[in-house]
Amino acid sequence: MIFDVVTIFPDFFRSILEYGLLKRARVSGQVEIRLHDLRDFTDDRHRSVDDRPFGGGPGMVFKPEPIFRAVEALKAESGGAQVPVVLLSPQGRLLTQAVAQEFAKAPRLTLLCGRYEGVDERVAEYLATEEISIGDYVLSGGELAAAVLMETVVRLVPGVLGNEASAAEDSFSLPESPLENGAQGLLDCPHYTRPADFCGHKVPEVLLSGNHQQVRRWRRRRALEKTWRNRPELLARVSLSDEEQALLEDIKRAACEPALHGEKAFAPAASGRTVKSS
Ligand code: SAM
Repeated sequence: MIFDVVTIFPDFFRSILEYGLLKRARVSGQVEIRLHDLRDFTDDRHRSVDDRPFGGGPGMVFKPEPIFRAVEALKAESGGAQVPVVLLSPQGRLLTQAVAQEFAKAPRLTLLCGRYEGVDERVAEYLATEEISIGDYVLSGGELAAAVLMETVVRLVPGVLGNEASAAEDSFSLPESPLENGAQGLLDCPHYTRPADFCGHKVPEVLLSGNHQQVRRWRRRRALEKTWRNRPELLARVSLSDEEQALLEDIKRAACEPALHGEKAFAPAASGRTVKSS
């Protein structure tokens, strides 16, 4: 998979490309990340990429010409192939695991990073195939957002994670056939490692039992429990098996039972309570 990142700060990416998964995927040749300095596509002496906003107001706006030129150059290089062009923007469709799964199927992606007040709207209207936001908050530039998108997508590219880890079991992962547009899976179950007893805090016994059937059931229950407690809205969008539905009912029942100190065992985040029994 090839990423072409258009930015005024190519050096911003140097360190993240040199560590962990992105480095491994690049070195093994599974992923190529190419950085393009937007200023290389300017045509004035000052290599200017921005100008004052029409209509007045504070800040500067990225001019359309250098961005159009950059994307045209990349298109010409890829033999005119249809490549998704993503404008990173807080006004875009939210990046979710489901969206990342879609992107991971593309052989090539172009990412456009804005700065300042943003990018001339004609880029979103006539050049980008879509706008993507990494969350409902405003960053100073699209570089962090592009890095988040690349890391999320690269770990879904077949073969990148290897056998030691499976993205399919991560939080939000969907089964192979998507449930519905934008649907998200459950949160992952909790994980533990040695020591089995840390300062009196013990690892759940079932995980030490060697009984795979019980371990599987416990993990499913805890994934459901955590989802219900922290992100109950996700449950409304997944279809649960009969077994999972029964587990969920049980979790809800247990939450209503009086626990020690008169606290609920679990309460969903929506209720403002996240109290866990001992
Ligand atoms: N004036 C814009 C607005 O309120 O929608 C914000 C511009 S922001 C300061 C500058 C650049 O940062 C944007 O053009 C975009 O590339 C990037 N950016 C900021 N927040 C982002 C987010 N949540 N997701 C993706 N990109 C973001």
